[in-house]
Order: sequence, then C-alpha cells, then structure tokens
Amino acid sequence: MAIEKFGYNELCAAVLRGLLKIGDKKQMDNKLLDILVCPLCKGALVYKKEADELICKFDRLAFPVKDEIPVMLEDEARELTAEELEK
Ligand SMILES: [Zn+2]
Repeated sequence: MAIEKFGYNELCAAVLRGLLKIGDKKQMDNKLLDILVCPLCKGALVYKKEADELICKFDRLAFPVKDEIPVMLEDEARELTAEELEK
C-alpha cells in the first residue's frame, strides 16, 4: 500500500508542478481535480487557493500542499472547522 501511495503522490506532484509552472491556478481546479481524489473516501477534492489546501468535505479534512506537492496523507491532514465547511 505504501508504494501505491507514493506513486499517487508523485503523479499529483507532477501534475501540480506542471500546472503551477504555466502560472494558471484556475486551470488547476479543473485538470488536477480530475486526478486528485481523497485517499480515504476517493471522493472529489476542492482546492482552496487562499490556504493552499485540498479539501474533502465528506471527511472534513484539509490536505496541505507543501512546496507545490499535495500531501495526500491522513496523518498530515488538518481537520476542518464547522465554519470552514459552510463555505
Ligand atoms: Zn474524503
């Protein structure tokens, strides 16, 4: 399972880097989110530009993006507050 996760993270990193390089974060919303899913529920994620986080509303988790690489690990994720979920 660990290898599978690593491969997935690498894929995400490659996609994210490529999109960030061309400086179009709007495009990332569409293209990256086709590939990025929540590692727990496999549901769609929402990218929050302000916080640089990927949000899973179902699990109420925010996955950080560190050095342009999404960290899709439950251990690294931040729990969302009720207030954040309403947005
Ligand atoms: Zn989820």
